[in-house]
Amino acid sequence: MDVQNRVIQLKAAGLSDAQIDAIVKGSEFSSEILSVQEVEKDPYIEIGGLPSGGRYYKNQVGIPCKLKGQPLKVRDSIVLEAMENSNDSEVIDDIFKRRIKGVSPGDILIGDELYILAWLREQTFTKTPLRKSFICSKCGHLNEDALVPLDKLMVYYLPASVTDPMSCKLPISGNEIALRFMRRKDKVRIENFVNENLALRKLKIDDAKLLEIASVLHGMGITDGIEMLENLDPTDFAVINNFFIKMNFGFNKSAFLTCEKEECGFTSIVPIPFQDGYFLPKIGPDLSYED
Ligand SMILES: [Zn+2]
Repeated sequence: MDVQNRVIQLKAAGLSDAQIDAIVKGSEFSSEILSVQEVEKDPYIEIGGLPSGGRYYKNQVGIPCKLKGQPLKVRDSIVLEAMENSNDSEVIDDIFKRRIKGVSPGDILIGDELYILAWLREQTFTKTPLRKSFICSKCGHLNEDALVPLDKLMVYYLPASVTDPMSCKLPISGNEIALRFMRRKDKVRIENFVNENLALRKLKIDDAKLLEIASVLHGMGITDGIEMLENLDPTDFAVINNFFIKMNFGFNKSAFLTCEKEECGFTSIVPIPFQDGYFLPKIGPDLSYED
């Protein structure tokens, strides 16, 4: 019903002009609120720029899906800031469970994990984007508080042609072997395996390489995987190792930052540690950074 008809109807019902005015304005106001709520129903935003390209995520019924996230809340910022290193699986599991939609935290690719944390930080502190001072590697100029947006992060992207899993033929044995991308749950499997075997004092330092590769062998458990790898011809193993390195991608907490001096303009690689005010910036009431 349009407003005019509504006014005629209300007048006929004997309401005063002031009353009608209040009702009409009230209804307009409430319909405005309704339409705003309608638009904001999904508080999750698609996570753009993922190192994996976001191509390998599937929902519970196996249909490809986009990763979405929402800004951190106070408690998330506190625990992330307090986290001594970003490899604490349980802390990050909890954050991803609360703030990421699409797949379960264990299914998130290791190569995307740090980038997602940086994305969450950027989404949360939109008024105080990340800044970092650095000394130009070419001219030595001190660039103070340079902006570090997500697209300046040093990200190793995966080529679109890469599949998951991906097969590789071994030259000596002629066998074909398939590797998957490492997911957060594989890292947990490695940690559990290490803990169990440390207790048994069976683990050696040089097992780390075997463990990593064994954890992503398609269709094979870690113990069987290690045994299979150990018994390979070293040439075959070297091929797998190289293949494993090539499947590596992600973000290693560095950024490409360009010198502000016009005559220089050199781009330096600057470390961006997730520490000391990264997830809980040290800012004043005017939103400027404080030391
Ligand atoms: Zn410079």
